[in-house]
Formats: sequence, structure tokens, C-alpha cells
Amino acid sequence: MATEVDFLIVGAGFSGLVIGQRLASAGWKCVVVDRRDHLGGNAYDAPDKAGVLTHQYGPHYFRSNSQRIVDHLSQFTGWHPVDYKIKSFTDGRYWSFPINLNTFEELIGRPSTAEKFEAWLGSNRIAIDKPANSEEIILAQVGRELYEKFFKGYTIKQWKRHPRELDASVCGRIPIRTNRDDRYLRESFQALPENGYTAMFERMLDASPGLELHLGVDFSEARKRWTCRHLVYSGPIDEYFGRRFGALPYRSLRFESESFDGDSLRARKEISGKKGFWQPAMQVNYPDENVPFTRIVEIKHATGQRIDATSIVREFPKDWSEGDEPYYPVPADDSAAIYRQYAELAARESKVSFIGRLATYRYYNMDQVTGMALAEAERLLKRYGTPIPL
Ligand code: FAD
Ligand code: UDP
Repeated sequence: MATEVDFLIVGAGFSGLVIGQRLASAGWKCVVVDRRDHLGGNAYDAPDKAGVLTHQYGPHYFRSNSQRIVDHLSQFTGWHPVDYKIKSFTDGRYWSFPINLNTFEELIGRPSTAEKFEAWLGSNRIAIDKPANSEEIILAQVGRELYEKFFKGYTIKQWKRHPRELDASVCGRIPIRTNRDDRYLRESFQALPENGYTAMFERMLDASPGLELHLGVDFSEARKRWTCRHLVYSGPIDEYFGRRFGALPYRSLRFESESFDGDSLRARKEISGKKGFWQPAMQVNYPDENVPFTRIVEIKHATGQRIDATSIVREFPKDWSEGDEPYYPVPADDSAAIYRQYAELAARESKVSFIGRLATYRYYNMDQVTGMALAEAERLLKRYGTPIPL
């Protein structure tokens, strides 16, 4: 016999837990299921074998321009402010990245000024009125030399597509500056949950007695165990519809990690510039096409964890196939055309909400899916009302 609940929510990542907490706080009975054996979706963090707090599915740098979203999450966590800084490694050396005045000085090998860099850009930029893809948006900002040095190879490795075949938003999200601001991200709020994402999600659950979590449960099993007045789905949209219009393309990743104790790190101090670290920044990008990974992440730089060890993780991009995690929807015209067919079906499902990175097939960040989950919760509360007064 299936158990009746108000909302059945598929996926215990940002999308599923944020909406579940909000609906449960209004008095609705919610069940969240996830086929993984942990909560948090791709933002899940936990100590690795060396005791280093690690983002298990690649680095997750929280950032937002929305005070409303930060305030909402702040009910469940304090914050550890971080100026996320990275470097790029090519031609046998580290470079300041994203491109800024320091990068320009490294390129020309002498001190310079913002005005001189502007003038250099002025004579290198390629005039493109409305950049239509990821190649054009970088060429239009910095010209061919810097595009080829920092963007072309990285993008081809990451997406197995030429930047010309990707939306302008993909490379366009990387800032380019003529001052010395070398932060990787543009948003006004940049911080990590002070005890990690997993701890934040656990507090969300603790704060919501009407929110029940079941791990290791796939949707196919959940729909037999629970009936609901409304379903919230944050898994891959093509999977929901049995891939009837064909599989949507996703890029996946293979992570390779390595840990170092305090003794072995001593020899790296000359390279990292900082005792107890392996590399000079939390993330180093490797844009050369002949290096098989895209980046090496040493998250301890960002978390500020005090531990006499460190871990680094190399990311090797790969195509998604059955059994892999579908990490990245591919922002391109051909995949958007397939997605539109699924979106039309989704729009006809009046008792199902599709939210999050996978169900809306969008390259969204954590704050964006949080905003989407909160907006959908408000829509559902208007539609179904609230069992207890708000
Ligand atoms: P997910 O986190 O993918 O959660 C969906 C959950 O649904 C998963 O746990 C999955 O197991 C479950 N699920 C799927 N199908 C089923 C099913 N049939 N049955 C049961 N469960 C199911 N964002 C940032 O803001 N900053 C960053 O620095 C950043 N870095 C990233 C780095 C990488 C490598 C990746 C892949 C993403 C990054 N993101 C980053 C994006 C961020 O991960 C997403 O915005 C966010 O996690 C999306 O949350 P979600 O709940 O929509 O999806
Ligand atoms: N990118 C690049 N070179 C870099 C960093 C990024 O070409 O050194 C491009 C690449 O296409 C990448 C996109 O910009 O996929 C977005 O980069 P970001 O670091 O935001 O990627 P994510 O963290 O989402 O994997």
C-alpha cells in the first residue's frame, strides 16, 4: 500500500531540499527521495580519507547577487567569506586569471597601467557586434592571442565542442578586467557555508519536522511507495519522459584525488608559496589541449580548514553515458532544440513541477536554483494554500 503525502520531491540537492523545507514549514507533509546515499546533490561535501573537507563532486563556490537568497540560506548556516582566487597554468608557468592587468604585465614582461592595457585590447579585440557564441564573446573582448592561450583549449576539453558551437554565456561568464581585481567571480556575495554544505542541509532538515528524507531511493521506486497531491522533480528531464525525443547531451567528469601529509608538503612550499599547500591557489586551470584534465582544485585554500594535510583533485571531462553523473547540461542550439520538446511535455503536467539544473536543463548556479525553488514554493503555496496559517 502506498503512503499518502502532500508533496513527493525527487532529488535532495539544493532544488529539492530548499523547496521541501519551504513547503514543510507551511505545514505540508513532504517526502524527499534521492537515489544517491547522501543528501546535497552535487554540492555534497564530506571529509576525504586524509580528513580534508572536500566537495565530492567538484568545487562549489557559493556566490550570489541576491540578498533574499542569501538571507534565506542564512537561516541554516553562517558563512565563511572567501575571495575566490584561481590561476591558469600554461607555457610552463602560472598566470593571473581571470584576465586582468596583472595578466597583461605577465604577458608583456614589464609593469603597465590600465590605460595601456585598454589600448592593447583596443588594437587586439575583434569587432563583433553581437557575439553569438563562446568564441565570439571572448574574441570581442580580448582578441585572438588571449582567447587561444586561455579559452580555446580549455573549452574544447571541457565540452568536446569548439567554442563556436557553445552559447556565448558559457565563456561569457568569466570576467575580464583591466584593473587588478583577480577574483574569479563577479557576484557581490562570495562565501562558503561555514561548516560546509552538508551541515547546512542537515540543519534545513532538522528545522522541518514535516520534511522526510529517504536516501538510496530512485523515483521509479518512490512512485510506488508514495502517492502525492503534487510531484516536484529535480532529476534529468529526458529521463522523466523515457528519453522519447532522444537523450539530451550532458558532460560528465572523472575526479582523481591525491592527498599529502605535512611532511611531503614541505617540498611544495616553493611552488605553493604557502606552508601546508600543494599549489598557489584553490584552483589552477590547465587550458592546454594536450593536458588531459581541465583543472586542479585544492579546496583547503577556500574552506580555511586547519589541518596538517591537503588534498588535490584533478578533473577529467568526459561524455555522459549510462551510469555516469550528468553534471553539465550542454548550452548549445542543438541541445536546446531537444530540450524544448521535453519542456512542451512538462508544461502539460499540471501536477508536476520541474525545477533545478537537470529538470530545466540549464547551466544554473546554486543561488539560481535556490531562487527557482523558492519561487516555485510560493507558486505552489498560492495554488494549494497552507494547512497552517503562515
Ligand atoms: P543536483 O545537485 O544535481 O541534485 C539533483 C539530485 O537529484 C541528485 O542528488 C540526484 O542523485 C537526484 N536524482 C536525479 N534523478 C533521480 C531519480 N530518478 N531518483 C532519485 N533521485 C534522483 N554552482 C555554483 O553556484 N558554484 C560553483 O562553484 C559550482 N561548481 C560546480 C562544479 C561542478 C563540477 C558542477 C557539476 C556543478 C557546479 N555548480 C556550481 C552547479 C551546482 O552543482 C548546481 O547549481 C546545483 O547543485 C543544482 O542543484 P539541483 O538540486 O538542481 O541538482
Ligand atoms: N573557461 C575557459 N578557460 C578557463 C576557465 C573557463 O575556457 O580557464 C570556459 C570553459 O568553457 C568553461 C566556462 O568558461 O566551461 C565556464 O567556466 P567555469 O570555471 O565557470 O566552469 P564551471 O565551474 O561551471 O565548470
